[in-house]
Amino acid sequence: IIFGCDNKASETTQNSKSNFNNNIERKVDSVLGLMHLNEKIGQLVQYSGKWNATGPSSSKNDQHKLNKLKKGEVGSMLNVVSVASVRETQRIVMEHSRLKIPLIFGYDVIHGYKTMFPIPLGETASWDLDIIKASAAIAAKESAASGVNWTFAPMIDVSRDARWGRVMEGAGEDPYLNTVVGVARIKGFQGDDLSQTNTIAACAKHFAGYGFAEAGRDYNTVNIGEYELHNTILPPFKAAAKAGVATFMNAFNDIDGIPATGHKVLQRDILKREWDWNGFVVSDWGSIGEMIAHGYAEDKRHATEIAMNAGSDMDMESYAYEAHLESLLKENKVTIHQIDDAVKRVLRLKFQLGLFDDPFKYCNEQREMDHVYTEEHLAISREVAKKSIVLLKNENKLLPISKDVKSIAVIGSLAHDKDSPLGNWRAKATYNSAVSLLEGVKNAIGENTKIHYAKGVDLTIPTLEAGANQFLYPLKFNTTDDSGIAEAVEVAKKSEVVLLAIGENAYQTGEGRSQTNIGFLGLQNDLLEAIYKVNKNIVVVLMNGRPMALSRVSEITPAILECWHLGSESGNAIADVLFGDYNPSGKLPVSFPHHVGQEPLYYNQKNTGRPYSNKHVTFSSYRDAPKSALYPFGFGLSYTVFKYDNLNFDKTEIDRNGRIKVSVEVSNKGDRDGEEVVQLYIRDLVGSLVRPIKELKGFEKIMLKSGETKTVSFTIDAKILQFYTASKKWEVEPGDFEIFVGGNSKTTLKSRITVIE
Ligand code: BGC
Repeated sequence: IIFGCDNKASETTQNSKSNFNNNIERKVDSVLGLMHLNEKIGQLVQYSGKWNATGPSSSKNDQHKLNKLKKGEVGSMLNVVSVASVRETQRIVMEHSRLKIPLIFGYDVIHGYKTMFPIPLGETASWDLDIIKASAAIAAKESAASGVNWTFAPMIDVSRDARWGRVMEGAGEDPYLNTVVGVARIKGFQGDDLSQTNTIAACAKHFAGYGFAEAGRDYNTVNIGEYELHNTILPPFKAAAKAGVATFMNAFNDIDGIPATGHKVLQRDILKREWDWNGFVVSDWGSIGEMIAHGYAEDKRHATEIAMNAGSDMDMESYAYEAHLESLLKENKVTIHQIDDAVKRVLRLKFQLGLFDDPFKYCNEQREMDHVYTEEHLAISREVAKKSIVLLKNENKLLPISKDVKSIAVIGSLAHDKDSPLGNWRAKATYNSAVSLLEGVKNAIGENTKIHYAKGVDLTIPTLEAGANQFLYPLKFNTTDDSGIAEAVEVAKKSEVVLLAIGENAYQTGEGRSQTNIGFLGLQNDLLEAIYKVNKNIVVVLMNGRPMALSRVSEITPAILECWHLGSESGNAIADVLFGDYNPSGKLPVSFPHHVGQEPLYYNQKNTGRPYSNKHVTFSSYRDAPKSALYPFGFGLSYTVFKYDNLNFDKTEIDRNGRIKVSVEVSNKGDRDGEEVVQLYIRDLVGSLVRPIKELKGFEKIMLKSGETKTVSFTIDAKILQFYTASKKWEVEPGDFEIFVGGNSKTTLKSRITVIE
């Protein structure tokens, strides 16, 4: 009976969903039928609106936007935030325009709106899809309560070069991890029903290849072949399309000579036709016009022609579509079918969001007051933050620190930094609103412990007033003033243990923030060395937005805790781990190198015949550094110890449609309860194209009590074994595969299976 009921219920849901969609299609068509060409083109225009509730400034550009809004020639605004500003802007359209087609309001809500969560890279280290989804859902709730309908997230660019500043914004180096984390974020933002006032439309970006910017230089050209594109870069996007992401954003880069914004194969052929996706593609900021700088378009008119033909639906801030689409249509350089299709895609989302029913439904001051930056959201942020921390090293069980410790030194320019933990892309976070490490330690520890704080060195030299928008300004690092080191040394001398907070501030990563040096800038190394001379009990608390080169730190310090930029509750979450209230369970979503010269560095590389090892010597690719990572992808320690045994397969041979069940026993051999991320990797031993030496294909995060053993199972099927082959198809090629299971990408616990014809 229960099954019967469930089936009926799901049938009814299915039916009502398809009725809902049919209704929307009818409405879209009927609105389209009423529209004049200028109004259609207007729907494809997106402006940034920095004006506030009192309206635009008198600048020429703002006045231009205002006039276009009044004529109903704007489809979307970005960067208009707060209920008052959204209401005012929407009101202009509703009062003045002929058809009163509501605007959709977009904003970069990347890892929280006002309650900040760990930066996406950090959050990915939790390998916990439920909390990742929950954090996106809270970001959606807060931003929707402030009038936002659409976020430009998640970024699902696979990124393998630590120099690239935007590595902080995604899920790291692995296609599978980007896929599942990206889908979790999309589901978190969009919920089940976009018309609810606590959900927002998501945007899969940047389509495609942006994470492969040559040498990690932001916005740089991307030189990859078709095979890398299909096997590494596209899978997260395909999954996002399948999960129903409302929008895609294209990218600034070219791929093998074709700018992503003008890439017809990507946008029209693959995304819209092959993947049958019915959302809309927004350009990246100005990227239509930038095809001129690429040397791919003669002028804006030509750029407009290329972008529209290639399937870029909405023009973000290029002012190209509004100027040229009409005349291009007259000359048959673009078609009305293309324009109508793009407009329908935009209208569809507006209907899904319920904006036609009530254009002001996201404008409710009470909700804005009640739903933003609540105690409940902060508590969840702390949960997510502590699960995102990765324990990289813990010699002699220095961690966790007993709460009976007599004295602790808290040192470093990041130790009482209340801003950097908010990370880059921080939406509406209040400047300096994070709990600092020092505050977290004080909150966690009783009065019997002496806490000695010394900043030691300033990381940067302030060039701007506190709170000013630092986005466009270069950072100046402090390389001269070491006057605070003496005090830090004194403090370290009189303490049992030193917490040394070093790494990067919030402005060292993010857009336009690539670095050639991924070590500790300023005088942080000097500080470390000085302290090391007087106290060896150093716990390095790393705060950063990218993989860092840790060789020296790792050589001399007994404990390293990777704490990323953890968001509003940073200090409290770190203290939870430092003092053992939470047993760390994070695993790296990116490889950490010995040296920047190893970049790009990633575990799922392809092999060549060299360098090789023989019984006398192991050759590296470098004379001055090892070939592999210092801390590999998937790696992270716990305060307990896990052991893997009995890797079992229910069969070892299948045909292409078969399935194999793999199981493994995982035991907690230590004296603390803890969570472990059990990871499944495969290697296709011989392929029609060279295959990576390992590829993540599944994982499960489990809780094990001290002494407990659990059996974890995975199913291996065609979905897992296939790749985009030399025949230009996704398929499984018969042959042998190695299957690895373990706690990180270096695992050697493996067995072999065979796929037969
Ligand atoms: C970035 C996008 C972002 C957009 C809007 C661009 O510069 O590349 O990721 O969504 O600006 O702020």
